[in-house]
Amino acid sequence: MERFTAGLISLEEAQSKMLAEIAPIHDSEMLAITSAAGRITAEAVISPISVPPFANSAMDGYAVRSADLAAARLLSVAGKAFAGTPFVDAWPAGSCIRIMTGAAIPPGADAVVMQEETETQGECIRLTATVKTGQNIRLAGEDIQQGAVVLAAGTRLGAAELPLLASLGISHVKVLRKLRVAVFSTGDELQPVGQPLAAGQIYDTNRFAVSLMLNSLGCDVIDLGIIKDDPDALRNAFAQADDAADVVISSGGVSVGEADYTKAMLEELGQISFWKLAMKPGKPFAFGRLQTSWFCGLPGNPVSAAVTFYQLVQPLLAKLTGQQTPALPARLRARAAGLLKKAPGRLDFQRGLFSRDAEGELTVRNTGHQGSHIFSSFSQANCFIVLERERGTVQPGEWVEIEPFNALLGGQGVA
Ligand code: AMP
Ligand code: MG
Repeated sequence: MERFTAGLISLEEAQSKMLAEIAPIHDSEMLAITSAAGRITAEAVISPISVPPFANSAMDGYAVRSADLAAARLLSVAGKAFAGTPFVDAWPAGSCIRIMTGAAIPPGADAVVMQEETETQGECIRLTATVKTGQNIRLAGEDIQQGAVVLAAGTRLGAAELPLLASLGISHVKVLRKLRVAVFSTGDELQPVGQPLAAGQIYDTNRFAVSLMLNSLGCDVIDLGIIKDDPDALRNAFAQADDAADVVISSGGVSVGEADYTKAMLEELGQISFWKLAMKPGKPFAFGRLQTSWFCGLPGNPVSAAVTFYQLVQPLLAKLTGQQTPALPARLRARAAGLLKKAPGRLDFQRGLFSRDAEGELTVRNTGHQGSHIFSSFSQANCFIVLERERGTVQPGEWVEIEPFNALLGGQGVA
């Protein structure tokens, strides 16, 4: 085993090496919030107003002045305040104002009595419960103070963030430009979908998988197609990709076969930072720099390509766009529901399906055959089962770490 794992660097080491080498981009643009979904804030967003902007009622009921209540619990109704139409007339002593939820609190009022705690008596209302100063009043600035930072720089804008900006009257937001990512697959055996397969050919899965994941991460994808296992064709693809993109992602050709030119090409045209990871799937993964871009050489096997993209390229792209939140979900502990075969030596990312058992404990089983060519394992899974490098086969009932899929691979939810 030693013989095969010596010289492999750990995933953590690879991740930190990558992240240490790169710095976030800075180019930004102003976008309407209606066009900013999925984009990353280029600077902190400051609230121009307080929210709520004025004190308003949390209930349908009656606005009162505590001072009026000492004398009588029976009050005449001096007027009405609706959401959008404040009460502005004179407010005689000994009276109250009919008020609806969201209406501005009339000047002088210090409580709202909910309708259910009143009785109508002719033209007047009688209060049937005690009144506490301040009750049912939403204070100005209670949610957000004018001038407060509502979003940090490096925040991805989605359904939680963009409506928040709308609620503050912010119509435009400064976001980082999209990352440009060039993608190509290498391999004489690869055919694009829609073409018939000749003997020995297979369909190109990786370019599609990687492009999809890049799209959902908000990148501009430059698709350079399928490149033959030919040094000149590869050299040309590398140069074209380097010119066009911030990040270049290839798949295939990174192992030690006779038609594996990717690593040699990276050494010739740029600088290799590391290759060969102590992880499974995904051992042959190359990272380095070209003239003006970063390069990630994913393994050819589709599961390996997807796992290394997920575990390594995702954090890289997050760092390039200065994102604050970790790209990968936190890991949880679950009990193995069945045997999980493993040999010591490499960190293993098995595809698993976790669920909660009758006792409320998380349990997980793998999806069966864990070969790095079994791409269907993703569609049956909702998590990775992450088995430590030195661990051997896991017996049923043992604790393991799981990493629920994020939105990139998600879709199955919790079983
Ligand atoms: P390689 O890293 O080029 O030696 O490829 C390893 C394995 O992955 C081989 O079985 C290839 O046929 C397969 N493979 C490489 N690229 C792709 C791709 N884009 N889609 C599907 N399978 C691939
Ligand atoms: Mg190949």
